[in-house]
Amino acid sequence: MYFDIHVHTIISPCSKLEVNEVLEQAGTKGLDGVCITDHNTMEIRNYLREGIQPNGLCVIFGMEYATANGDYLIFGPFENIPSGLSDQLLLERVYKAGGIAIAAHPFRTGRSCREPVFLEKNCCALEIINGRNIEFENLRARQAARKYNLTECGGSDAHTLEELGRVTTCINYPVRSRKDLIFSVKNNLCTAQWNICNFSKPNVNLFTHHMGCHYISIVPGYLKTKQQ
Ligand SMILES: [Zn+2]
Ligand SMILES: [Zn+2]
Repeated sequence: MYFDIHVHTIISPCSKLEVNEVLEQAGTKGLDGVCITDHNTMEIRNYLREGIQPNGLCVIFGMEYATANGDYLIFGPFENIPSGLSDQLLLERVYKAGGIAIAAHPFRTGRSCREPVFLEKNCCALEIINGRNIEFENLRARQAARKYNLTECGGSDAHTLEELGRVTTCINYPVRSRKDLIFSVKNNLCTAQWNICNFSKPNVNLFTHHMGCHYISIVPGYLKTKQQ
């Protein structure tokens, strides 16, 4: 299944992407699911019911949590975590609750994570392709994921409709709920890839950037065995 695990709606002050646009357009971009990860809030729960929508799209709620040492996409059996925690305290809290923390754009200049956290069990996955990163930042994330043997995820970091679904996490598991997503990431059932569907209306600059990058062909059918 193809998921965009990093999507900002207009609940994030920096985003222009309407909730309705996500629901209506995700399928046209080849997505089976999206994770709503607004900045430091899971307020999306006031607007939508989580899970499979009437049109079949699977919507999962999480948030992008900012710390002084990088940003984390967090998902767990919680509907809020107060802002202001250090990376270490956040990761500990999420792990103990039974959730997952995915390091978002972990090597982005100015927003990078501390590499030692990848040695601990509390952070189990890295976003190895982020749609807003430059190629080198994604490359470093990929190298770190391989070095520390962490689950590899991809997210568009969409703040506009055009960006939605540009990067996907291919999940080799039938994800219908937040719990399923957590299981898949914990058990390393994910791979990251650029999404070819979005090239139907390419922005020229983005297109050039992607072609120079590491696009992996989409395998027919949604289930793909993870290749180590
Ligand atoms: Zn933002
Ligand atoms: Zn983001």
